[in-house]
Amino acid sequence: MSVWKAIRLCCRCGRTVAWALVLLLPAAILFGQTSPGGGAGRGETLEAMKARVERSARQLERIRGRKLKRPVPVVLQTAAEFRAYVDKELAHQLPEDLAMKESVALQAFGLLPAGYDLRKGITELYVSQAGAYYDPDTDTFYVLKTNLPEVQLDTLVLHELAHAMQDQYFDLGALREAALAGPNEDARSTLAYVYEGEASYLMMLAQMLQGGKGIDDIPVMQQEMVFQTMRDMTREALTASATSAQPPGSGGDEVRAAVKALSEVPGYLFWGLQDPYLKGQYCIHRVRVAQGWEGVDALFRTPPASTEQVLHPEKLVAPRDEPKPVDLPELSGILGESWAEVYRNTLGEAGVMTFFDAHDPVAKVEASAGWGGDSYVVFRHPSQGLLLFWKTLWDDESEAIQFEKALAAVDAHALCARREGTTKRVARAGAEVLMVAGPDPAAERAFAAGVARAETVKAE
Ligand SMILES: [Zn+2]
Repeated sequence: MSVWKAIRLCCRCGRTVAWALVLLLPAAILFGQTSPGGGAGRGETLEAMKARVERSARQLERIRGRKLKRPVPVVLQTAAEFRAYVDKELAHQLPEDLAMKESVALQAFGLLPAGYDLRKGITELYVSQAGAYYDPDTDTFYVLKTNLPEVQLDTLVLHELAHAMQDQYFDLGALREAALAGPNEDARSTLAYVYEGEASYLMMLAQMLQGGKGIDDIPVMQQEMVFQTMRDMTREALTASATSAQPPGSGGDEVRAAVKALSEVPGYLFWGLQDPYLKGQYCIHRVRVAQGWEGVDALFRTPPASTEQVLHPEKLVAPRDEPKPVDLPELSGILGESWAEVYRNTLGEAGVMTFFDAHDPVAKVEASAGWGGDSYVVFRHPSQGLLLFWKTLWDDESEAIQFEKALAAVDAHALCARREGTTKRVARAGAEVLMVAGPDPAAERAFAAGVARAETVKAE
């Protein structure tokens, strides 16, 4: 499957790096699901690309059942120009200081290696993975890779035109601004699941048609199986499938190189980049089956409030299962003045899944389901390292117990940038679970402040 990206909300932090990217991996996987192979790429000219865009526009209009309001300008862009664009967007949306703080927080969760340069990691990821993108600021479709296998160019174009259509009907730029004002990173990231999910879904429907079948020619149970399988693919299965679906030749080589680069990034970046496509696609499919395209349109008018709602589309049905606020105690006074707060935010259900994917993949799906809300804060001491205080709220006590058990099994030494002497404590009070990781006695004091109402306490 080639990887398609629309507006990219990097790292679930809600910052839009680029709009409407087509990533190489999801698209490559798509081909594995539908029509593997296809001719090798030849390095398409702008004129040929424009003709392709014209054909794809008509196909998109047939599938989606509405017209593009305006033609979409197409521009071929070099890798260097795209890199400059990513740099500019990142400078605006993920300033150096913020990138550093966010990286530290992710190191505390054991999601990034100690000292990881997040800005650099994201830049390289984009440059290696993007096949094309749509920029709602200029209403233009930029093609980065013209050398892809023939059939993948078609889907790449259709994917980006889907973003152009979204922009023409719902104003992606305004939606992005609204998303950026969201209460936390989890809430800010959901918009990407909607626009990437829909664009990926339309790409998939187009692929099916090319194979001679409309989506409605397939029994609903079988449809469910196809999209669920794609949603649940492991990282290994995704990369293997994307690689094996490629024809020999330079176009296929380009995708294989992208997949190889992707296989080397930390899981947090991998899933942050991929989830909106395949998990978003599943959500869009479910909403369309239940409510038609009108239901999908409604997601653009009122985007989901949490990744929980996206991952469990039944929670999007009114009344939606809204995330619950989680308050953290005041810790600065308890820790002492040498401890400085670095970052606070919400991981969300998708973030919890990524957390377990890094620490205990088997527990990933069960432990993260039933999420109700969470908040975390990370402190740093000049000589003692990091301290993570993370409070989660679950839909009921049994969900909390499941999460508590999985959390208790996480290796303390994988947390807080793998610093020697890190301790980890877990406590539960009803449907609320607290974890504190860091060096004692600071961690012990923070934990004591958090467990006043806890029923079960486990320390290691
Ligand atoms: Zn996209």
